[in-house]
Amino acid sequence: RTDKARRTLSIFGATGSIGVSTADVVLQHRDSFDIEVVTAQSRAEELAETAIRLGAKHAVIGDPDRLEVLRARLAGTGIGVAAGPAAIVEAASRPVDLAVAAIVGAAGLEPTLAAIDAGADIALANKECMVCAGGLFNRRAAAASVRVLPVDSEHDAIFQSLEANNLHAVERITITASGGPFRTATLDEMRRATPAEALKHPRWAMGPKISIDSATMMNKGLELIEAHHLFDIGSARLDVLVHPQSIVHGFVTYSDGSVVAQLGVADMRIPISHCLNWPRRVETATPRLDLATVGTLSFEKPDLQRFPALRVARTALENGDWATNILNAANEVAVQAFLDGAIGYLEIAATVEAVLDVATGTVGGTELDTLEAVLTLDREGRRLAAERIDSRGRRAG
Ligand code: NAD
Ligand code: MG
Repeated sequence: RTDKARRTLSIFGATGSIGVSTADVVLQHRDSFDIEVVTAQSRAEELAETAIRLGAKHAVIGDPDRLEVLRARLAGTGIGVAAGPAAIVEAASRPVDLAVAAIVGAAGLEPTLAAIDAGADIALANKECMVCAGGLFNRRAAAASVRVLPVDSEHDAIFQSLEANNLHAVERITITASGGPFRTATLDEMRRATPAEALKHPRWAMGPKISIDSATMMNKGLELIEAHHLFDIGSARLDVLVHPQSIVHGFVTYSDGSVVAQLGVADMRIPISHCLNWPRRVETATPRLDLATVGTLSFEKPDLQRFPALRVARTALENGDWATNILNAANEVAVQAFLDGAIGYLEIAATVEAVLDVATGTVGGTELDTLEAVLTLDREGRRLAAERIDSRGRRAG
């Protein structure tokens, strides 16, 4: 499957930051890919344009109210159109060699599982689906004998640094973090942080949700959980290291003392290209790393006092899939509430921690062996988070 000259590809979340970078990588090697499906939630004009540029066979929009715009833009092109969440899942069951999972949040879980069941290898950007259903995800991937290729830059770095014949000799896995916009901020500055300040990431241009996750470092917490599921390694052997230059994306420490790392400029087209073309490497239009210009690479331990989300996420990882499911659901709600101005920046992690505290006594230990169980628990996490945000708002107002 992986040695074919041309690959068939579907892109879920084609209008997002990862989706746009994926289109860029595809267009640079136009003859290597046939695009089956592209999807988006609401940006019908951009989706139509992407479908035309990539020569996709089908374009699916999540929001049914945007179907007419999509249909009008694609009239006469021969590109099939559809709308609604069920249509996205249906489109995901069209057989392809590789599905790029670049929807944000737990909303990406069902389409990704459908793609897995249809036998597609997965280029996984959507870390939330690993966080809310890691065990189920891996069982479904194993049952369908599909490969999960990590797009997330740190995980792609680990994937590149792992030696297939020496997995038994892996001592530790370390993922790096830029530290985000508040790396050197005081708690007092963080208390007053606005969405605009939190969205301003120093190294990467990304969608709003992951940008806020980077500011709280919840992103790194989600990535620890993602690494656990991708590389079958426990919390005790997983490290986070703050590295403000974002050049070393991750490294593996072997039992002989060797450390193997992957380096590169902070450009998602590099890990995307690696996943789309694996096991080959092809040219990308990304800037080349010039270490003499970078000059200094620095590293520091993450500060769990100022970045409690990282501690909360690690505890969830240690408590199991039910806890990471609740963590993700509560975080999605809290991030949106922060972006909407309903809660302050420091309340994002506080909300998630409080929801986990409550959930431990009510749904703690819930088995997530079916999609239904995953979605039910996810709804409960969202409900608890909304309830807490609501009651705080009433108290403050
Ligand atoms: P984004 O917000 O820029 O794009 C999200 C995409 O998903 C859009 O195409 C949107 O239309 C679609 N979408 C949103 N809600 C949807 C829903 N309910 N149903 C169907 N489609 C929906 O996000 P992004 O920055 O591209 O991130 C996408 C995923 O990749 C996230 O899980 C993120 O954590 C992960 N990721 C992103 C980066 C990055 O550099 N942007 C790096 C690593 C991992
Ligand atoms: Mg990452």
